[in-house]
Amino acid sequence: MAETFESVAPATGEVLATFPRSTAADVDRAVQAAKAAFEEWRLVPAPERGNVLFRFAELLRAHKDELADLMTREMGKVKAEAGGDVQEAIDMSYYMGGEGRRLFGQTTPSELRDKFMMSVRMPIGVVGAITPWNFPIAIPSWKLAPALVCGNAVVLKPAEDTPLLAQRFVELLAEAGIPDGVVNVVHGFGEEAGDALVRHPDVPVISFTGSRETGIAVTKAAADRLKHVHLELGGKNAIIVMDDADVDLAVEGIVWSAFGTTGQRCTAASRVIVHEAVYGELQSKLVAAAERLRLGPGWEDETDVGPLINRAALEKVHSYTEIGKNEGAKLLTGGEPYANGGGLYYRPTVFADAEPDMRIAQEEIFGPTTALIPVAGFDEAVAAANAVRFGLSSSIYTRDVNRAFRAMRDLQTGITYVNAGTTGAEVHLPFGGTKETGNGHREAGQAALDVFTEWKSVYVDYSGKLQRAQIDNAERPAPR
Ligand code: ADP
Repeated sequence: MAETFESVAPATGEVLATFPRSTAADVDRAVQAAKAAFEEWRLVPAPERGNVLFRFAELLRAHKDELADLMTREMGKVKAEAGGDVQEAIDMSYYMGGEGRRLFGQTTPSELRDKFMMSVRMPIGVVGAITPWNFPIAIPSWKLAPALVCGNAVVLKPAEDTPLLAQRFVELLAEAGIPDGVVNVVHGFGEEAGDALVRHPDVPVISFTGSRETGIAVTKAAADRLKHVHLELGGKNAIIVMDDADVDLAVEGIVWSAFGTTGQRCTAASRVIVHEAVYGELQSKLVAAAERLRLGPGWEDETDVGPLINRAALEKVHSYTEIGKNEGAKLLTGGEPYANGGGLYYRPTVFADAEPDMRIAQEEIFGPTTALIPVAGFDEAVAAANAVRFGLSSSIYTRDVNRAFRAMRDLQTGITYVNAGTTGAEVHLPFGGTKETGNGHREAGQAALDVFTEWKSVYVDYSGKLQRAQIDNAERPAPR
């Protein structure tokens, strides 16, 4: 009997489904199926591949409510956010479907007569997509939609916490008309199925979203075969609130960015860097807003904040409360689990008087915890914002246009928001981070295509004679 694992609802502890725990042999079968299907799929005209994505987007629309409901149960986020997660996949599928009629390359004149030159994007082969549980429909779409429109086949290894949603995702792709073998799923654990996928010799591209530590392990495991590795890792995202900010607006943005999805977003605002002139006002307004948030199951209309994903996450979040207290930060509110029907809830937590180098201000907590850091001015705020190893998202609240533009230039992140929180990316701009958030690649937008294609430069000589670049035209006099 093959081993199995369970999908458990974080709000109730209920077992939702049981899945096979894929082994290296299962991964190999999936890769072989993908490898065979790739040879056909790469020859399907790209607009036709795009049409499959359009149909997929329409199916996601038709099933949006069902998927959002399932997400509140399997992953735990609240219904409106779950709907947003599905909507992101809809938007991405339409956007990448349209790429089927673009996938632009370049044409450029040759230095020689009767010679034509162009560059075209080529699919690479079997893509290994490894995804986390926090955006269980959106993130698979960020990887699969561009990979597929470019003509690749895929083996998806979704997070072990959200296999049901991944299963529905690939079922809808099949219904949309993806040919057999082009998309395959292996369920199970990272060190087992995930690692086998990363090391498989017939998987030349790995697209991974998860923690920094796992990203490093994936990079090392992929290095022996010089695979293309795309990484989207952690964040320690800061919101800067200047003395001229609209403080009420900033508080709304902080609450949404720090506590939305229970702080389990890679773009979560886990630091708030506040000008001392508004520090007192912001503290009291933020604490009041955090204490108004209602914790409960994601499917209940009145819930603002759902549970954490699993017990290990709850323990990790709580350990950071202890770390923050021991480091000398001041706990203003929260800092403890909240019992409600067996759910893994944690009270929205705000620390004040954090120093930029404290662990709670440096390390990714991935929970509803944020730390306020007081500063005396703009330069100090930017320096504090940049003093972390991550570089995903940043934000500044100010009504001074000069400061806003300086922040846009000087904040060392892949994404910067002005007068909005640290979260809210749209699918047609690049998504990703600088520094240790990744390795220079981006998802979404045109940038995603670079992960899933190789450039081929093509030269066509129609002169009927040998023409040698850099030699036959070298003696020609420059035009006067
Ligand atoms: P998180 O902390 O968000 O769960 P992880 O980085 O542990 O982040 O997991 C993200 C994804 O990576 C999951 O699908 C997980 O199963 C997978 N994973 C974990 N460890 C490995 C590994 N060593 N090799 C490949 N994939 C892994």
